[in-house]
Amino acid sequence: MADEEFNPYEMAQKQFDRIADKLDLDQSLRDLLREPIKEYHFNLPVKMDDGGTKVFKAYRVQHNDALGPCKGGIRFHPDETIDTVRALAMWMTWKTAVADIPLGGGKGGVICDPRELSDREEERVCREYIKKINKNIGPLQDVPAPDVMTSPQHMLWMMDEYENIEGGKYPGVITGKPQDMGGSKGRTEATGYGVIYVLRELLKELDRDIEETTASIQGFGNVAQYAAELFIEYGGTVVSVSCWDQEDKKAYSYYKEDGIDLEELRGITDRFGSIDKEKAEEKGYERLPGDDWLKHEVDVLIPAALENAITEDNVKEIPEAVDIIISGANGPITPEADDLLEDRDMIVVPDFLANAGGVTCSYFEQVQSNQNYYWPKEEVLEKLENSMTSAFYDVWNLAQEKDIRMRDAAYMISIEKVAEACEARGWV
Ligand code: NAD
Repeated sequence: MADEEFNPYEMAQKQFDRIADKLDLDQSLRDLLREPIKEYHFNLPVKMDDGGTKVFKAYRVQHNDALGPCKGGIRFHPDETIDTVRALAMWMTWKTAVADIPLGGGKGGVICDPRELSDREEERVCREYIKKINKNIGPLQDVPAPDVMTSPQHMLWMMDEYENIEGGKYPGVITGKPQDMGGSKGRTEATGYGVIYVLRELLKELDRDIEETTASIQGFGNVAQYAAELFIEYGGTVVSVSCWDQEDKKAYSYYKEDGIDLEELRGITDRFGSIDKEKAEEKGYERLPGDDWLKHEVDVLIPAALENAITEDNVKEIPEAVDIIISGANGPITPEADDLLEDRDMIVVPDFLANAGGVTCSYFEQVQSNQNYYWPKEEVLEKLENSMTSAFYDVWNLAQEKDIRMRDAAYMISIEKVAEACEARGWV
């Protein structure tokens, strides 16, 4: 989320400029790629349960569609800003390119707090969003998906509204829908599992045993929970997770030296990924300040909450024992922190590679929805695993060959691919 000191769009542009310089990219390509091609700003007047009307600000940003229709989630958050959506749309362009998916990058957002809305009010926000943007999205233009605080149910309401307006069945208009309502099996798990497929390959390359590996995770929502699930299934130990506490309006981390019991914690967590603090303490978890998730003596840190989690101010709090950071969240590490981490020889697996499992499975969902033919879960997960493994090796091998950080290698692959597509189309 953007604030006076942190602007994710400026951060995304700074990351882009660094690689544009290294690639000696033409000025016209720089001008095209460092800003979105289109963006929509609109207001959503929503009837509230008390009979009044509340107006929510909403956005849809389409960064680039040279490789295919735009793709990217819709976030509901009280601190959402246009610059956050711009940054996320830009990172989606690089993500689809590095994952070798024939799609572009987009993102949406509504400034609202679903934790303060009733189900009916949330439904009206979803339907109103589609009423305002339906002409500018669609299976061949721009395909939204869930993100922070949006769920399969939100996607279903949005699809239903789009179909009401268009007068037909368009399951390919949106992904992350509930299974049996046009959703793909494996989509809910996909982002978190994708993070762990990549981590598993990295550990293999480093000749390390995943069963001997410990991790601390920031967040306990969709991405964090499924990353923890697969990591634990592979034999790893998660000693800490963290989350936002809506009552106290601050984050806490929850620590257990022997490792968390995932199902036990899930049982006391709400649908927004907030853990019940009293119940967690009763079950023997130590409740610590939110930032403590990165201070534990573990092998791997997995930021899986929001942007701006690891900054030049808190890098020094990360213990020497930690030598891998793999990003589940989008934009959790600032460029300044990246430089300091490189000085420490930390292996940083960049967000738009590590969390590409979500969009990869969303792409599979689009293919299935457009054909109205759905694959078994094993097939989806096998395809996902192959795709994430191959994206990891593309980036890892380039980073090794050129002796550069993984983020730079991932950016080089994706910027070159998108730039070539723009040139091939004759845009520049
Ligand atoms: P979510 O809403 O399901 O979960 C977010 C989690 O972060 C919650 O547990 C929340 O309590 C926690 N959180 C919020 N503020 C926090 C703070 N200050 N400190 C600690 N925890 C905090 O969201 P999600 O879908 O899991 O997304 C998490 C991140 O992953 C986001 O950056 C999102 O853009 C990115 N991402 C999500 C997907 C996806 O498929 N859902 C795909 C790619 C990337």
